[in-house]
Amino acid sequence: MTLRIHDTLRRKKVTFESRDEEAGKSRQDSHVRMYVCGPTVYDYAHIGNARPVVVFDVFTRLLRRLYPKVTYVRNITDVDDKINKAAKETGQSIGDITARTTKIFHADMAALGALEPDHEPCATEHIDGMIALTEKLIESGHAYEAPGEAKGHVLFDVPSMPDYGRLSKLNRDELIAGARVDPAPYKKDPADFILWKPSTDDLPGWDSPWGRGRPGWHLECSVMSEKFLGAEFDIHGGGQDLIFPHHENEIAQSTCIGDSGFAKYWMHNGYLMAEGEKMSKSLGNFYTVHDLLDEFPGEAIRLALLKTHYRQPLDFTKKGIREAKQELSRFYTAIRIVGDIEATNMEPPEEVMIVLEDDLNTPAALAHMHDITSDLNNASSGDDKSRLKGKLLGAGQILGILQQPPWKWFSWHPPGTETLDDRSIEILIAERNKARQRKEFTESDRIRDQLAAEGIQLEDGPGGTTWKRG
Ligand SMILES: [Zn+2]
Repeated sequence: MTLRIHDTLRRKKVTFESRDEEAGKSRQDSHVRMYVCGPTVYDYAHIGNARPVVVFDVFTRLLRRLYPKVTYVRNITDVDDKINKAAKETGQSIGDITARTTKIFHADMAALGALEPDHEPCATEHIDGMIALTEKLIESGHAYEAPGEAKGHVLFDVPSMPDYGRLSKLNRDELIAGARVDPAPYKKDPADFILWKPSTDDLPGWDSPWGRGRPGWHLECSVMSEKFLGAEFDIHGGGQDLIFPHHENEIAQSTCIGDSGFAKYWMHNGYLMAEGEKMSKSLGNFYTVHDLLDEFPGEAIRLALLKTHYRQPLDFTKKGIREAKQELSRFYTAIRIVGDIEATNMEPPEEVMIVLEDDLNTPAALAHMHDITSDLNNASSGDDKSRLKGKLLGAGQILGILQQPPWKWFSWHPPGTETLDDRSIEILIAERNKARQRKEFTESDRIRDQLAAEGIQLEDGPGGTTWKRG
């Protein structure tokens, strides 16, 4: 295998070599370490927040195929001015907002088929580490506390870091323009950024050598990545919008002292628009995952995200989800028709691995899945059917789709409101009859109970099973 990824730092596709391999270990002995920036928990995750989660979920599944040990860390930002603002506006406590939003985030991402990261540290659990890093940065001359009335603010001294800007490749004027979003008269240099700031009594704060305060946003990822992955790890990921200032500042904080290499590779997913425009609440195209899940199965939303290559801008549309749903139904139909035939070798097929190893080319992987499906539909021998079914399921496994029995896919309907359509009911009855023939009565009863819960009554008679809506 040769894994190639686009590295933002080098601005090109490169052959991936883990730090362990670089140090002389074989691939079988290598441990791959990856950190991806997670959500700020103040509101429902929108579909743009879900894109990196799904993209790096597939990438993790791929890495796990290629390496025996992979550690995937994704943080939760639970101290941020956006959270403070939401608390003020809604009258809820900060703790309530972050706890509830984190829970919803977990449920929504699970519905999209994203596996949990190995570690999911919260910023507020690592404040001590952030204070310690800030002290180290001050001691080494890379940070300073603002004087006079601005005391309590600690800033990173950007000119102390000659190669600042190496990830974003922005020039000095662009860096300053970017940093102006957060202007402050006490900055020695307009590009300097906040490491620590004072908190008033009504805001979250922790005691520190600079008084009661709270960290700037960038600090947490430097501290938590080192804590869980070490000072040097393999891949740092996130959305393209994080390249500057967030990731640039993480690099500054983590590499200015000593010769720490921090992340070896940087991977960023492209921007997301919705219905052809930038998402905005006023345009009505601001899609939260939570709302979309009321309308579509999570698996279809996931596939809609994967149909575009992760580095490309993605125009996310409801039409796109419907198309993804049809594609999934095509796959599930093929699997259902050969239902009783046992799948052999459920490894991801070689042609799918090859395109995924080429900078995670998910659209090409899906094209292969359609070809396999056509072959499966045309297969006549049982052996071919088992082999092709195994290939299709193996490909689905690595993309995180086709992970449920077909009857379950076809029985999906928007939660709460409608009931199953006739086609789904027929499919479920067929599945139940098959289970009964195999004398798997637990399974057949489970399907009957599931239908009963949907208000569908079954009647088994000499001519077969009939049904009616109760
Ligand atoms: Zn981060």
